[in-house]
Amino acid sequence: MKKEVITRYAPSPTGKFHIGGARTALFNYLFAKANNGIFILRIEDTDIKRNQEGKENDQIDYMFWLNVVPDLLPGSIDRRAPFKQSERLDFYHKYANFLLEKKLAYKCYCTEEELKKSREEQLKKGITSPQYNLKCYNNPPKNVDGKSYSIRLHVPNDLNFEWEDRLRGKISIPSSSIGDWVILKSDKQPTYNFANVIDDHFMGITHVMRGEEHLTNTAKQVHLYKLFNWDIPEFIHLTIIVNSEKKKLSKRDESVMQFVSNYKERGYLPEAVFNFLAFLGWSSKNEKEIYSKEELIKIFNLDGLSKAPSQFDIQKLKWINNLYIQKLEEDSLYNFLSPFVKDIKIPEEQKKQIFNLFKSQLKEGIEIKELINLFTKKILIDNSVKEIIKNNKQLFVDLFNELNKLNNWEENKIKEIIDKIGYKLNLKGRNLLYPLRYVFTNEDSGPPLVKILYIFGKEKTMNILEKIKF
Ligand SMILES: [Zn+2]
Repeated sequence: MKKEVITRYAPSPTGKFHIGGARTALFNYLFAKANNGIFILRIEDTDIKRNQEGKENDQIDYMFWLNVVPDLLPGSIDRRAPFKQSERLDFYHKYANFLLEKKLAYKCYCTEEELKKSREEQLKKGITSPQYNLKCYNNPPKNVDGKSYSIRLHVPNDLNFEWEDRLRGKISIPSSSIGDWVILKSDKQPTYNFANVIDDHFMGITHVMRGEEHLTNTAKQVHLYKLFNWDIPEFIHLTIIVNSEKKKLSKRDESVMQFVSNYKERGYLPEAVFNFLAFLGWSSKNEKEIYSKEELIKIFNLDGLSKAPSQFDIQKLKWINNLYIQKLEEDSLYNFLSPFVKDIKIPEEQKKQIFNLFKSQLKEGIEIKELINLFTKKILIDNSVKEIIKNNKQLFVDLFNELNKLNNWEENKIKEIIDKIGYKLNLKGRNLLYPLRYVFTNEDSGPPLVKILYIFGKEKTMNILEKIKF
């Protein structure tokens, strides 16, 4: 029988939901769903010093926003629960003690200072990655009553840690590059690699998809799986994400918005971000680029994962976002855009018309903030406007008279009037529309003039025409 696929995303609550983390979460989610499996969110909050208030919720909130919804998460009732490491300490203590009893691990009483001194000495000797000096392994100290200790795993230096990476093939890392590492800190909190293995095992994780920066971690973890005699999950180390200069995306990189919250704030639709992230290091067999979540779940597979770094192309995301905005129905468009212009005091019905007018050009929702100015700004009658009016006097006189008679303020009626006047005065194209546009908007270009006048309404249009005193 084929094993049920179970994947997980396991962030620590030390920062906001990062766009790279979102890609990892999304791939694990898609793979689980593509196989009718289970996707778990596990919060790894045992590094107490680095935990930040509220960041766990940021991760969870924005996963839900992105529609990467875990089947199991902190608070879920399930035999694999709890899904928060700070509530699983008994597990880690039990297995640390098991390793102690088997003499595979030992107590280390070295102080921070001693460890620091040893590291510095090694660095001075030219050793680039210092390791524990094995002091407590070689000579277990006596008279240790009440002294605090950590627990270290002994790593013999003549082994190779090997596994078959689903994306990269066989990977082999010599144990000599690792050294004896701490599994349980002196505050009795587990370290990342130790807790990770125990949780992945007891939660039945079958596939671990994560960034390639975890390769050394995986070597340590493979060692632990072997010591516990547990099945090793499939490891898939995703390639890095690079920016437009082909540099690895880092949290300090200012050329790319780092957090999922940034995208929400600027008016990206979650469906667009979801669609975009799915292709950040994965591709389907055909050329199509726009996929719904349901379609992606149907076609996502590990064979489409890229072996080359994936480039974060914000222009592409903007293009995708624009397509998704164009597809929004009127009510959804209104709900999406109105928060950006909530301080602007014009009737909601008029806002709806303005949103519709601009929706085909919006790459980010926030752009509406600037665009709506066309309808809220005061129209100036400066010298350039006066000049235009002087040169097109009859045009404005006729427009005033005709529009004044118009009772049903409808787009096609306004268009008929403008066309009729143009025909009468023998004005076509730009010669007809430019003077009108400039006088009504003080701008050289923009959306169709007829639509602008329609949204202005009769009162505002006639007010402007009255003010220009032709
Ligand atoms: Zn020690």
